[in-house]
Order: sequence, then structure tokens, then C-alpha cells
Amino acid sequence: MKALELIESWPVVRQLRDGDPHALGPAARSRRSRELHPRIEDAEHAVPSICPYCAVGCGQLVYVKDGDVTHIEGDPRSPISRGRLCPKGQASKSYVQSPLREYEVKYRRPYGTRWEELSLDEAMEMIAQRIIDTRAASWEEKTPDDAPTNRTMAIGNLGGATLDNEENYLIKKLCFGLGIVQVENQARI
Ligand code: SF4
Repeated sequence: MKALELIESWPVVRQLRDGDPHALGPAARSRRSRELHPRIEDAEHAVPSICPYCAVGCGQLVYVKDGDVTHIEGDPRSPISRGRLCPKGQASKSYVQSPLREYEVKYRRPYGTRWEELSLDEAMEMIAQRIIDTRAASWEEKTPDDAPTNRTMAIGNLGGATLDNEENYLIKKLCFGLGIVQVENQARI
């Protein structure tokens, strides 16, 4: 740093030079704080959305630039959450962009000691075949006292909190259509 720059960076010099003798305004700001800018400043637009993590359904504003999510914050217009998000909702950008996010299907076969990667087609085929076989082997048309059931008790579905309403609706519809009656989800508080 040159001598003049060094002298000008001294707080007392900045206080006197910037008309801020008590250092309550601009003189108290460091270079770093001067260079800070709002995270949403560069966004092209904000898309109103609903936090997908739980059944509260807090309103979100998703800021986007070049088709990428740049920031997510609470939507003050939401009558549910009035601009607030809990830590999960605050971190939901990672749901889209985290480097820890998995993009491959992981499979650990019975008695396996490690995860294997499967293609999506292979995994879907495997799941469909297991459902068909299990359903056929465990189908109950009637109860022991002859009441009609048309169900299988050998398959269940347990959903996670990040499933949204529409996904849960479709899962329940699919399961009931297949005679799967044990359908649960964590998406509730
Ligand atoms: S996870 Fe948090 S932010 Fe998201 S809907 Fe539930 S309470 Fe709201």
C-alpha cells in the first residue's frame, strides 16, 4: 500500500475528510462493508413458490439469474409465513444446487456391503418387477370372514418431507390403484 493510501485509510483521516467526526456514518465502514451488495441485486426476476420441506407451506421468493437459482427468501405476501422461513426453508437453495446432491441411483443389494450405481431405467424396471411379483404373491381378495378387501399388505410406501402436495397426491393414487393401503408420509408437523 502506498504511503498516501495508508494515511487515507486511517480512521481519523477518514472521519475528518468525510465530514463524519464521530465515525457514526461512512467513516466507520470498512472497504469490505462498502463492497458488500444485496444477494438479490443481480437477479433477473423472482418466482413466488412454496417451501417443499414440510406441510406448513411457507411462501418463498426464488431469485433467478440465467436460469439458475441465486437466492431463496421468505415471501412477505404469504399469509402463512409473512416473510419468514425456518432454517430448512432458508437452506432450500441447496435442494437444487448442493454439491452433495445425488444425481445417480444408488442401490445396495441384499447382503451387499457397498452402494452400486444403477441407471434410472434399470432401477425403475427393478422396482416395477418387484411390485408386480410381491403384489401377485400377497394379493388378498377377501378377509378370512369373506369381506372383500382387494389389497396387498406386503408393500408399503413411506414418503419424505420434501415431497410436495402434487407428488403425494399421485403417489397415493398410484398406491391405492395397486391395492397398496399402507401409505404414510412425514410431511406433517
Ligand atoms: S420447512 Fe420451514 S420454511 Fe419450509 S414450510 Fe416448513 S416451516 Fe416453512
